[in-house]
Amino acid sequence: MEAAVAAGTDPRALSLAAYRDEIAGCTRCALSKGRTQVVFGSGSPTAELMFVGEAPGFHEDKQGVPFVGAAGQLLGKLLAGIGLSRDEVFVANVLKCRPPGNRDPQPEEIESCEPHLFRQIELIQPKVIATLGNFATKLLSGKPLGITRVHGVEQEVVLGGNRVVLYPIFHPAAALYTPRMLEVLEADFRRLPDLLGSATAPPAQVVELVPAPAPRQEAVQLGLF
Ligand code: URA
Repeated sequence: MEAAVAAGTDPRALSLAAYRDEIAGCTRCALSKGRTQVVFGSGSPTAELMFVGEAPGFHEDKQGVPFVGAAGQLLGKLLAGIGLSRDEVFVANVLKCRPPGNRDPQPEEIESCEPHLFRQIELIQPKVIATLGNFATKLLSGKPLGITRVHGVEQEVVLGGNRVVLYPIFHPAAALYTPRMLEVLEADFRRLPDLLGSATAPPAQVVELVPAPAPRQEAVQLGLF
């Protein structure tokens, strides 16, 4: 297992590392039985920009790091395009353990795992959270609107006790083989520097969010869209 949370003396780094250790043996849902390890998340514990994907896949489960496959390569390229590296952001998933056969996350799994994500957000205190695809977007917005409708539209919310700009974008896996979707993802990505620059400005309207109940009919195909 790699030390995916950068070590340091910042209290947030220490707290995040402690939380990582605390949940390494998590058994809150049945996915714990089939996993190699909990895929906590990786990057800077003090990141201003956080990405939230769906769930670890085969390679992530083996390596203990999110987004190490083809979608992760694309995420790295998109980040480089706006002058950032993986080390400067924090990358996590809705689910910390791999669903068998990479199937969609189930509502009860999302519900069991969401305290981990909310605690990460509370500790990291990012300015901007980019949700990658439907599952992260619906969970963190608390709304049922799909990514095709809401991508590229930021909103101010309170998550983990902190004011944050929530910015839904397409999941990189959805853009891998669809050039048109890649163009949209690239365009949405290009707005991130501005959002980070303006994320401290007073919001027009702040929406207080509590962890949303997991959508009950989410176990459908094409969950990425
Ligand atoms: N890898 C991850 O860690 N998360 C995803 O959502 C997809 C690939």
